[in-house]
Amino acid sequence: MLKATDAEIDSMFGRRTLEGRSAIVTGSTSGIGIGIAQALARAGAAVMLNGFGDPAEIERQRAKMAEENDVDVAFDNADMSRPEAIRMMVERANARFGQIDIVVSNAGIQHVAPIAEFPAARWDAILAINLSAAFHLVQATYGQMRARGYGRIINVASAHGLVASPFKSAYVAAKHGLVGLTKVVALEGAEFGVTANAICPGYVWTPLVEQQIDDQAKSHGVARDSVIRDVFLKNQPTKRFATVEEMGALSVFLCSTAAASITGAAIPVDGGWTAH
Ligand code: NAD
Repeated sequence: MLKATDAEIDSMFGRRTLEGRSAIVTGSTSGIGIGIAQALARAGAAVMLNGFGDPAEIERQRAKMAEENDVDVAFDNADMSRPEAIRMMVERANARFGQIDIVVSNAGIQHVAPIAEFPAARWDAILAINLSAAFHLVQATYGQMRARGYGRIINVASAHGLVASPFKSAYVAAKHGLVGLTKVVALEGAEFGVTANAICPGYVWTPLVEQQIDDQAKSHGVARDSVIRDVFLKNQPTKRFATVEEMGALSVFLCSTAAASITGAAIPVDGGWTAH
């Protein structure tokens, strides 16, 4: 797959443009979150990783990111469905880095079912992790950003923050809500150097998506290529997956001073999906 390279991204932003900044990226033990955390670290920011997974693998990722980018990288396993855990993660990040300049709410889960059968507990969990966690994270960090006159809030929403699909009631509601929250925070922070933006990806190539392709190919007895073309990329006009590197590059740009006037935006990175 054609990917944005480190050299290309370095040539756009210069190296270490975020030196002296520190960031929390939720849900960064996998997929898009790792891509964003890696790009911020490469730009020189200290990063707190967060999420679930095999502790040895997470430690390997953390140590590699720290060493390769010569920045402080920490890990916190706070559960984004628990407001108190989010506040404690912020306290630990403050203690470790001294300040927090950038927060990326990326942790997310999905459940697909018709509305009449949608389990209420899944609805509650999706709203808590995909939407309310972003509110709690902003609430715990906004004050210090405003006081210092610089802050970057990035919420990873989805094309489903802009348009709907059937059977994804909780996810679509949460992601639309996240876009709304982003706009409010943008207005409140506008005069104080704090920007808030939502990234709205279409299908992104992550281990999760790769697994789903294999599963669907097996269960429908069709080739991987036709699952990719006819199911996953049906609505994505470019007929290619976005990459986690693209999410990382956009995040670094949004954190730059060049992006100071971009706030309250819901930016589609969906290969033209929402242009339909
Ligand atoms: P992923 O499943 O690979 O990663 C999700 C991350 O969230 C993991 O690190 C996981 O440990 C963490 N997480 C899950 N529940 C958590 C909880 N309660 N507390 C803390 N961490 C938790 O998913 P991904 O594809 O990288 O998606 C990341 C974000 O991007 C999600 O918000 C998702 O909705 C959004 N998104 C993804 C795609 C895509 O095609 N992959 C498209 C649009 C939007």
